[in-house]
Amino acid sequence: MRCLSCHRLTFSTFCKRCREELLKPSISKRNIDGLEVYSFYNYHNIEDFLLTKHTPLGFRVYRELAKLTFKPFIQEFIKNSNSLIYIVGIDERVNSGYSHVALLTHQMRCRGVEILHSSLIAQNRVNYSGKSLQFRLENHREFRYRGKRDIDVILVDDIITTGTTLKEAKRVLSRNGVNTLFALTLASLV
Ligand SMILES: [Zn+2]
Repeated sequence: MRCLSCHRLTFSTFCKRCREELLKPSISKRNIDGLEVYSFYNYHNIEDFLLTKHTPLGFRVYRELAKLTFKPFIQEFIKNSNSLIYIVGIDERVNSGYSHVALLTHQMRCRGVEILHSSLIAQNRVNYSGKSLQFRLENHREFRYRGKRDIDVILVDDIITTGTTLKEAKRVLSRNGVNTLFALTLASLV
């Protein structure tokens, strides 16, 4: 097949050169009212790939990007952790045959880590894309949590824009006795 980015022949979704150069993660950190959020890419640098998320192609793209980012991150993180860490993806709902957030959390499975798939689902199907901060603040996602309590979790989402969603998710988890260590997103739009 051909590399999705440069169209060179490759056995993978992206060729070795694109994986090592164009898609090399560059971690940035934001602090949203006390919640630390780490992102692997700047949204604008990989926008074309991120926009595949509601198409069949997005399955391969998100899986491949997760292998380059979430997977090595958690493997490094868990080396310095003595307790079991849980992973909660934001709204792992199936769209176009797959959940793009579940593709991210799925790559984090390893010893010492447990993924709580589909444990935090939004009851309000409001679409935040392109909406103002005011709109986001007035229209809560109304997350419902169905998972274990008294645990430490890492929150996962694909994109952080204003941070409204992650803040609301953290609040709901906290009400359920869950401690959010920090959040990880594939890309940050600033
Ligand atoms: Zn390439």
